[in-house]
Amino acid sequence: MSELSIAIIGAGIGGLSAALALSRQGFDVTVYEKTAELSEVGAGIQLSSNATNILYQWGLMDQAKKIGFLPKAVKLSHWRTGDQIARFPVNHNESFHNQAYLHIHRADIHGLLLQAYEQASGKKVVLGASLHDLSAKDKSQMTITIEQDGQQQTYEHDWVIGADGIHSKVRDFVAPGSQARFTGNVAWRGLVPVESLTSLFRPDPCANLMMGPGAHFVYYYVRGGHFVNYVAVIERDDWQEESWTLKANLEEMLDDFAGWNAQTRNILAHTDPESCYRWALYDRDPISTWCRDRCILLGDAVHPMLPFLAQGAAMAIEDAYQLASCFKEFSQQPEQLKNVYTNARAQRTAKVQLQARKNMQIYHIRNPLIQFPRDQYLAWRGRRDPEFFNKKLAWLYDYRV
Ligand SMILES: Cc1cc2nc3c(=O)[nH]c(=O)nc-3n(C[C@H](O)[C@H](O)[C@H](O)COP(=O)(O)OP(=O)(O)OC[C@H]3O[C@@H](n4cnc5c(N)ncnc54)[C@H](O)[C@@H]3O)c2cc1C
Repeated sequence: MSELSIAIIGAGIGGLSAALALSRQGFDVTVYEKTAELSEVGAGIQLSSNATNILYQWGLMDQAKKIGFLPKAVKLSHWRTGDQIARFPVNHNESFHNQAYLHIHRADIHGLLLQAYEQASGKKVVLGASLHDLSAKDKSQMTITIEQDGQQQTYEHDWVIGADGIHSKVRDFVAPGSQARFTGNVAWRGLVPVESLTSLFRPDPCANLMMGPGAHFVYYYVRGGHFVNYVAVIERDDWQEESWTLKANLEEMLDDFAGWNAQTRNILAHTDPESCYRWALYDRDPISTWCRDRCILLGDAVHPMLPFLAQGAAMAIEDAYQLASCFKEFSQQPEQLKNVYTNARAQRTAKVQLQARKNMQIYHIRNPLIQFPRDQYLAWRGRRDPEFFNKKLAWLYDYRV
């Protein structure tokens, strides 16, 4: 196989997926990660079959299912009463072509990808290595400056993949001139050990969703059903920090969800304060420039999105798979490689970004005169056609890279 050397900036889910996929094709991949220690902290993630089919191709699904959780349905309930509105089955037609809808702890999926990359490449992620600068050395190579232990060092690679998240430095090189925008939403995130909840307040084994005025609450099991993970999103513009590791105040979170049903408040109240995080939600508009010189973007670096469709990581995994196929096919034709990758990914991810934004408006309707018919419509759909959810999202979930 080719001797191309590829640098990946960022060892998040996107960067590690790309590192694994490219190493499996035999490329020489080096991953630079700015944090000194790899740790994806307390939060779960939902992965639909468009992403789990790829995990299956990489031989990771058996392990992922063992350490994750397979929900039986998507369940919608009323934010104030907690009463069920509708329930749409998932995971009832799992097959070779239709891998499971999976709930998994971020650290667990991250760990699986890391281990698989290390095995495939025989290399380790370069930690504490922050991209400081990058430029095209000539038509066929990039120069990157990496800062590590207070020292700057330059390296040359045939390609640089920017998987460095929403505030990507690589993006500033590829498509300069735009800033991530605060969306006015703050997400509280936490994990609750199941044994701390009485049976009355234990959730159904579903992807549970409650839509309230200017807020919503998503909760589901992870780690074989031993923990409940939740994301509680509320519109508020007084706080704009982003960090997976910023500890939050339990009292303040409960105040945000005052007036919500007993199950929601009970779950929130049982959060270990040490594992309660909050995160300001930013996004960016879709762009069509994904590549420049020998540099390519991937994941949140190019298409950050609101979590209202649970697809940010799934899209990064799809990008990675597509990118590796393009490298396999066109490694000697760089312009074609970039065009095919961009054409395959830009339109689809833009649609997902915009749909996630639209869902924000639907989930957070404040006017009870609109909220009521929304819920009635979903209840009617649930009674009439249990496959409604799967059919409506077939364009998203049934897509195969
Ligand atoms: C509340 C919430 C819930 C979500 N739920 C879901 C879900 O259910 N399903 C789903 O699919 N997605 C979900 N997402 C989205 C998902 O988490 C992200 O889309 C995904 O993690 C993006 O991965 P990434 O690798 O592209 O970026 P990141 O995870 O941001 O990783 C970027 C990496 O690059 C590193 N880095 C940054 N700058 C540099 C530099 N200069 N040098 C070196 N390294 C650098 C960072 O340290 C980091 O490790 C959710 C997001 C949020 C906020």
